[in-house]
Amino acid sequence: MEQWYPEYECCRLCPRQCGVNRNAGQTGFCGETAALRLAWAGLHRGEEPPLCGERGSGTAFFTGCTLRCGFCQNWQISRAGMGREIPPDELVDLFLRLQQAGAATVNLVTGTPFLSALAWAVGVARRRGLQVPVVWNSSGYETEEAVTMLHSFVDIFLPDLKTLDSDLARRHFQAADYPAVVMKALANMASVGPPVWSGTVLRRGLIVRHLVLPGELAATRRVLEFFARELKATALLSLMMQYAPPCPESGPVRRLTESEYATVVDWLAELEIEEGFVQEPDAAAAWLPDFTRDNPFPEEYSDPLWHWRRPDVAAGNGPGAGADSP
Ligand code: SF4
Repeated sequence: MEQWYPEYECCRLCPRQCGVNRNAGQTGFCGETAALRLAWAGLHRGEEPPLCGERGSGTAFFTGCTLRCGFCQNWQISRAGMGREIPPDELVDLFLRLQQAGAATVNLVTGTPFLSALAWAVGVARRRGLQVPVVWNSSGYETEEAVTMLHSFVDIFLPDLKTLDSDLARRHFQAADYPAVVMKALANMASVGPPVWSGTVLRRGLIVRHLVLPGELAATRRVLEFFARELKATALLSLMMQYAPPCPESGPVRRLTESEYATVVDWLAELEIEEGFVQEPDAAAAWLPDFTRDNPFPEEYSDPLWHWRRPDVAAGNGPGAGADSP
């Protein structure tokens, strides 16, 4: 089915405000035309536990990104463009297949460049029986208009709060305005209200992710103070400690030290941030996904349903399915 979206005509979907005509094949900072591109979808058990339930979160990783961080662990899809065009009506089918496979949530990863198409696809999927919560998993670099649109089809917001340091934001993702933008976006997302649970699975709410960067603890302290002051009454915090030096681009070149980890954990207690999740800086967990593989993640973490090189990858699940395929 051919789709056309007025928002792509002079694209201002994110704070980059490129003004390009993506319907005519032009690309802006994110590198994406109007063609919806997906890299991988499947059940993923590496997300926060309340998003995963027993079988996993039904994650869909979209191609392109409005930030393109130098240290991105998903650089193959955010910057190197791995992905394949998927018609929006096939994406609707995929959402329903994820639910049928036991996904506790449908988790849209870095969907901002395709916001219009995703609003349409979720709406149709809902009418066709999608019942699990929809998660918006993004950088937090969103316009007020975008967040308003998201409230109409998203149940759980899962934004990053990467930094409140403009210089760090400029150095790592060319967005000195990130702190101002993300503070406004988070305030708007927080209007979703306090967490609503169905047993151990989150039905509605806001989880704010922060990746602790080695050597940048002062920036993390600023983030935690802001979270404690502005968000902790409403949101859950997810503190990510698994930074691994990415290949091949910029970013800190080492992992977090034990002493850095201990310092950050002490700050949580000092700031009385009690609701949320803290990753262990376990070396075994510090892997990087590889989206050239049918299963980009460790086998125990995920079950593939769709891969950009092999959309029928689910048919090949089982021994050997993780091998690279042409
Ligand atoms: S979504 Fe892409 S083209 Fe549109 S404003 Fe953002 S970076 Fe530019």
